[in-house]
Amino acid sequence: MNAEIIAIGSELLLGETIDTNSAYLARHLAAIGINLFRKTVVGDNEERIASVISEALDRADLLICTGGLGPTIDDMTRESIARATGRPLEFHQHLLDQIEARFRSFGRTMSPSNRQQAFVPQGARIVENPRGTAPSFIVEDVRGTVVVLPGVPSEMRYLWENAIMPYLRNERGQTGVILVRTIHATGLGESVIGEMLADLMLAENPTLGISAKRAQYELRIGAKADDPAVAEALADAAEATIRE
Ligand code: AMP
Ligand code: MG
Repeated sequence: MNAEIIAIGSELLLGETIDTNSAYLARHLAAIGINLFRKTVVGDNEERIASVISEALDRADLLICTGGLGPTIDDMTRESIARATGRPLEFHQHLLDQIEARFRSFGRTMSPSNRQQAFVPQGARIVENPRGTAPSFIVEDVRGTVVVLPGVPSEMRYLWENAIMPYLRNERGQTGVILVRTIHATGLGESVIGEMLADLMLAENPTLGISAKRAQYELRIGAKADDPAVAEALADAAEATIRE
């Protein structure tokens, strides 16, 4: 399964909020063996979000979107996904009842604008969100699967761990792991290390990448396998060659 992440929110494009959700999702996709090929950040604009989603659906099997599920007019993820997948938004009374009950439990009254959070694209699977008001959902489209998570980092992490990861493992048969192991090197220049390890850097599995971090270099091995023990063995072999 090849994935892309789409982070939605103008505050991310303005540099006001750091897109930590994408980094979290990237690490957690690797942990369950899903290749991540792109991350996109897009602002709160229905047309641009819809076109990013549509383009990504032409390339990837799985899109993980975060952000833009709030109750205000700049929260346009629902509409954009409806548009990109050609599914009208449908109202679900039980979602509205849940949102209302959540407000009541805080001793507050729900605003009329929260009503839009009870709409999801036709045929979507609803993923209830006990940590917030915005329900999350999954659209299984012919072109690929779109998973939609809230932008609030704690809600997004909760739903990933408790709903989305189990869905991918149990219902979509996703197995495996991409193990990432980092070795630190110092005392040689990046170009010298790169020349010595060029053959490993051209290999497909495990992969090897080098990043310069001040006076040291991180040699990053990425080993992908169905069985974590096999991934460990692949990484061990690459590490032994590097150390030699
Ligand atoms: P939203 O779901 O777009 O209404 O965002 C709710 C909150 O989550 C806001 O405080 C955002 O700044 C924050 N947020 C949204 N997207 C991200 C992201 N990709 N990384 C970190 N925080 C985010
Ligand atoms: Mg937003």
